[in-house]
Amino acid sequence: MFKNMGWVKRIPVRTCALVVAVLLAPYTASGGPIPRIRVEVFSDAPTLHIEGRGIQLIDTYRNLYLFKNPGDSYIVMSAGNNGMMVNEKLYAARIVTLLFSGGVVKINDRLLRGHLEIANIDDSHLVVINEVDLESYVAGLINAEMPHDWPLEALEAQAVVARTYALWQKGRHLNQYYDMDAGFMDQVYSGAGSEDTRGWDAVNATRGQIITYGGKPILAMYHSICGGETENSEDAIGYRYPYLRSVKCNFCRIAPGFRWKYAMSFRRLARELIAKGYHLSAVSGFKVLKRSRTHRVTIARIVTDRGNIDLDGAALRAVIGYDKLRSTLFWVNGKDGTLLFSGRGFGHGVGMCQWGAYGMAKKGYTYKQIIHYYYKGVRIERMY
Ligand SMILES: [Zn+2]
Repeated sequence: MFKNMGWVKRIPVRTCALVVAVLLAPYTASGGPIPRIRVEVFSDAPTLHIEGRGIQLIDTYRNLYLFKNPGDSYIVMSAGNNGMMVNEKLYAARIVTLLFSGGVVKINDRLLRGHLEIANIDDSHLVVINEVDLESYVAGLINAEMPHDWPLEALEAQAVVARTYALWQKGRHLNQYYDMDAGFMDQVYSGAGSEDTRGWDAVNATRGQIITYGGKPILAMYHSICGGETENSEDAIGYRYPYLRSVKCNFCRIAPGFRWKYAMSFRRLARELIAKGYHLSAVSGFKVLKRSRTHRVTIARIVTDRGNIDLDGAALRAVIGYDKLRSTLFWVNGKDGTLLFSGRGFGHGVGMCQWGAYGMAKKGYTYKQIIHYYYKGVRIERMY
């Protein structure tokens, strides 16, 4: 859920005055407005299928209607030459505001609420930005991040963590057009379709609460299973945060994926590297060069016919696949051109261990105790 967003998106959108006003609002003003979060829900959709009631499509900058129907509508949208195709008709608008009645609208597979903007980025793909209030945003992602039948104290910890993470991202202003993307690199936001009463219970019970350090929202990183010990932030992301310190965690031992194995041939590894743009034709060796204090692999060397490729742990997981090399807490044996990985945990290991939160909640710990266990020296404050 953490990534270096060092790339540039070509979306000709100007940040709206509302977002600027919200960004300037103080973090600790109790009783203040609920911040709004801009989420990129679709990043490069060739086509959008929009279903809903009272749909209006408005050219955002010229304030002209492209479509308006008070009843039920089904609309197909795509990017056209310097404009938008709406039900096969081309309109000269690059950014469109979508309004609807009834609280939610369906776009492709997702139910969404709040303010929606659709932009043509390259004449062949559309981007959809969803602006929602922070509480709805957390409710829309909590069930994607944690099973809804988990103990309420674990869900409440997740709600506070997710709310804090979103505010931290928003405060970075890394992208001019949105604060979060909806994929697992940020937080998995699937919109109103995944909200349920237990998710809302956890959100409402912790309404407005965030985790702070030095009066500011923390980078509330979290992951699925730490595998026995969480990681120091500097060893995973190269920057030391005083609250992201390694802690022992026996609470996640009950997780089904606590231990894992994965086998991969040299040939397959070569194919994956080539697909990622590396120049080689064959892999002949693999060696762990460096481990962190918690024994996670921080540098691994892949020996190829075109020289050595040294990768850090995160890059190695990206090459092999995040769901295959489930963590960097692994050991490896090579045999007959095949690498046998055996490891523990799932994810980068920094911050809250979600299965650990589950284990703690099952043992009777509160959401506040869970948060203070995984984030050191922090406070839980009510922001609004
Ligand atoms: Zn754990």
